[in-house]
Amino acid sequence: MGRVTAPEAFSPEGIADTDSESGAAQQVLHRVFGYDSFRGEQGAIVDHVVAGGDALVLMPTGGGKSLCYQVPALVRRGVGVVVSPLIALMQDQVDALSALGVRAGFLNSTQFPDERRTVEAQFVAGELDLLYLAPERLRSEATMQLLDRGTVSLFAIDEAHCVSQWGHDFRPDYLALSVLHERWPQVPRIALTATATEKTREEIVQRLDLGGARRFVADFDRSNIQYRIEPKNRADRQLLEFIRAEHPGDAGIVYCLSRNSVEKTAAFLTENGVSAVPYHAGLDNRTRAQNQARFLREDGLVVVATIAFGMGIDKPDVRFVAHLDLPKSVEGYYQETGRAGRDGLPSTAWMVYGLNDVVQQRKMIDSSEGDAAHRRQLQLHLDAMLALCETVSCRRARLLAYFGQNTTGSCGNCDTCLTPPESWDGTVAAQKLLSTVLRLERERGQRFGAGHLIDILLGKSNPKIVQHAHHELTVFGVGADLRDTEWRGVVRQLLAQGLLAVRGEYGVLTLTEASDEVLFGGREVRLRREPERAVKQARSARGPKAAADLAPADVAIFEKLREWRAATAKEQGVPAYVVFHDAALRDIAALKPRDLTELGTVSGVGENKLARYGEGVLATLAEV
Ligand code: ADP
Ligand code: ZN
Repeated sequence: MGRVTAPEAFSPEGIADTDSESGAAQQVLHRVFGYDSFRGEQGAIVDHVVAGGDALVLMPTGGGKSLCYQVPALVRRGVGVVVSPLIALMQDQVDALSALGVRAGFLNSTQFPDERRTVEAQFVAGELDLLYLAPERLRSEATMQLLDRGTVSLFAIDEAHCVSQWGHDFRPDYLALSVLHERWPQVPRIALTATATEKTREEIVQRLDLGGARRFVADFDRSNIQYRIEPKNRADRQLLEFIRAEHPGDAGIVYCLSRNSVEKTAAFLTENGVSAVPYHAGLDNRTRAQNQARFLREDGLVVVATIAFGMGIDKPDVRFVAHLDLPKSVEGYYQETGRAGRDGLPSTAWMVYGLNDVVQQRKMIDSSEGDAAHRRQLQLHLDAMLALCETVSCRRARLLAYFGQNTTGSCGNCDTCLTPPESWDGTVAAQKLLSTVLRLERERGQRFGAGHLIDILLGKSNPKIVQHAHHELTVFGVGADLRDTEWRGVVRQLLAQGLLAVRGEYGVLTLTEASDEVLFGGREVRLRREPERAVKQARSARGPKAAADLAPADVAIFEKLREWRAATAKEQGVPAYVVFHDAALRDIAALKPRDLTELGTVSGVGENKLARYGEGVLATLAEV
């Protein structure tokens, strides 16, 4: 049986007395974590692993994977060994567990030898409930022998998709994890991931030898996240407006494709009064670690990052994830947006996307290394992403369908549900555009990009037009019925639908086989009309989003509690959320408990936290 150290926490005997293991798990959930009930599949997973079974767990980011191995590790005898690639975050994970009264340690390359020896001794003596291990440790015989000397209650393999060679997070060290089963066949293993396409699943099962494991596929819907994709004009201004209108003072992640735009965007936000830090692989290790630590520890900081940022960031109160560039795949998009709102409170996944994104990504695929099959794969990923962007139906339904989950109707919490876009018959517009491309293609050796084409359609004369005598083309000016931005929308959508292609370094537009069907075969083209104004949710401007549904008087209490939390976290050198999550503070502000017993009924307030922080909370409440 695992144990918790702090004297004020429950006594392990208390658990041993319960008549079933299921009862023991409930008690741990309640007393250690302060939660009332398991969510979704959690209960079934915990029971299965507590009973010694192997499990493969597919759950979206923020779905609650950690409890699936933490609770069994506390219920079963011995130490739960967690294999995780997230070395930089191990300290925070251990801190968060310690705040709950759980005895945790880690072994990785960032430690001094004597620190490592201490943890090893604790492990052997059974003085830990959980041990976090970097995967490369398992390649050394010394680690194997260490594990033999203690008692392992279970192996948890976090971020299990890292074993997949075709995924984007492949870690060679993960391949060595098959040894776990060979060497300790009696120890249950639980592999967890949020990347869940069929192909990845099969690869995990095969490489980790999990054929006999029970599979748990959770509901992938993250209903608290609002999905929005808007046309891109000036991305940085749009972002600023979005943050000011909907997320002032909130923590958020902004994703950009290049290091350069990361730097620029972070500087732009800072200049305009939004605290923001950059994060990308080009920064030196120290600055990067510092920025990450600030993001985790401070309230309301925005991090502008390349996709190098985020795996394993389990900060629960990230209120928005913004994409200023198009992600390369729906998997990537879903993982990245999933980092918003792990605490279940309302959050936004917001993206701007435009013609250049499509052109740029297609070019990148064309010039990418690897064989034709590989390029084809990238192409398919991009097509799925584009289809999501251009859809006139519910975004959530599309996303879930991509992960094999069928839903009915519309979700009511995405832009297409909130402001249904119209679709229009774009056949004539498409024909005008495609016949212009056709004419230009006939001029051998001369290839032109979207801007030039649109100028021809609009009948705009400029030196380049005159130089090539394009004002003499019959199509010159035939598209004056649409505006410049509308034409860009047409080009973008034709590209997305494969009715137009882009080639070469300069983003030259060319016809495809399918273009012929539009030009000569009478094929109809449906296009999405951009809503005149992007969705503006009626949102309270009075405070951070997490407090959105509180009564005005309670918002002040919530803010007061946040101040207390910030000071406490700083004093103890831990991230604010390790003290309490926003969700717990919000519930406290609404309930206004008068004593410790009442405070203990709030979700997220377990016994250890009650003992450690209870008086501080009550004193803060007494002040307002
Ligand atoms: P994942 O690892 O799947 O991304 P986490 O394990 O970080 O998700 O959990 C996401 C959030 O949900 C955390 O803030 C966690 O405390 C909370 N949570 C998980 N399970 C429960 C539960 N049964 N009741 C209440 N909150 C929960
Ligand atoms: Zn919807």
